[in-house]
Amino acid sequence: MNLMEIVKALPKTELHCHLDGSIRPETIFDIAEKENIEIPTKGLLEFEKCVKILGDCNSLKEYLDKFDLPIKVMQKHEHIYRITCELLEDLSKQNVRYIEIRFAPFFHTKQGMSAEEVIETVLKGMKDSKKKYGIMSNLIVCAMRHEGSETSKQLVEISKRYLNRGIVAVDLAGNEHDFPPELHKEAFDLANSYGFHCTIHAGETGIHENIIKSIELLHAERIGHGVYAFKDENTVKYLKDKKIPLEVCITSNVNTKAVKSYNEHPVKNYLNEGLVVTINTDNITVSNVSIIDEYNYLIEEQGFTLQDILKVIKNGIEASFASKEEKVILIKEYEDALRKLKLA
Ligand SMILES: [Zn+2]
Repeated sequence: MNLMEIVKALPKTELHCHLDGSIRPETIFDIAEKENIEIPTKGLLEFEKCVKILGDCNSLKEYLDKFDLPIKVMQKHEHIYRITCELLEDLSKQNVRYIEIRFAPFFHTKQGMSAEEVIETVLKGMKDSKKKYGIMSNLIVCAMRHEGSETSKQLVEISKRYLNRGIVAVDLAGNEHDFPPELHKEAFDLANSYGFHCTIHAGETGIHENIIKSIELLHAERIGHGVYAFKDENTVKYLKDKKIPLEVCITSNVNTKAVKSYNEHPVKNYLNEGLVVTINTDNITVSNVSIIDEYNYLIEEQGFTLQDILKVIKNGIEASFASKEEKVILIKEYEDALRKLKLA
């Protein structure tokens, strides 16, 4: 059995996946037609260019533009529900057994839905998909850097109703350059006081200082990306000493030019240094990648060994915000799979 067959056979987690970046292209196309949303092309094949990075991406702006249509089609209950269920169906087919879906609820209130209705729709899709496909999931709500502290606080207050009833954590996403972590300190103090886990996008686009700031000021227990930690020895040491997991998404980092190529990504060095690395997709559709593809890149371009693969998969379970009961199930499934594959 080769390494990729082992990857496929092992139960996996996905801890960093944006719902709006992970919609099936045919679903975006279908909803856009139904809702009379203008689309720049006629056929589905050509349409994929509008929502996926195919080949070279020239800028972060080009990457972010790919979210315009997804946000437009995610404004009604039935569409948000369908999109959630389809993502969970697609992941369960790749033997992902647990996912933390993340999204920014306020992006989906443009046609009259309240943030509560939006959240409840996604939670219903998650609950129904667990019954249908057996996949476990929790939700992370994203505060957006550019929207200001008051909006972030409002999001935390709304989410409080769903704490441990589907929502497990709060994230901070968006433009790192112009909006440093400290601007959202009050909101994350509040989230922490209510008992939310916190994970923050930091060090994705060059500013390594945001990594330690997010941990110290915003209570981050995990870091989204953290690509640029290598720029500063102290940051790497800090992550290692405090065992802060990194949510690594290599294809997204290649797309946004955070790294020049798969080969130059620091992920293997981080793993060798003893950092807690987890493997995730970020945006399945926009980055045109599956979780299986991500593992393939790690094996082909970074020289990941069987031991490395086993390590990052186990890290994914341990670093998740799953409940104790969910973790027990995940660990058992992982160990059962190892025995079946004669790896334990
Ligand atoms: Zn992200």
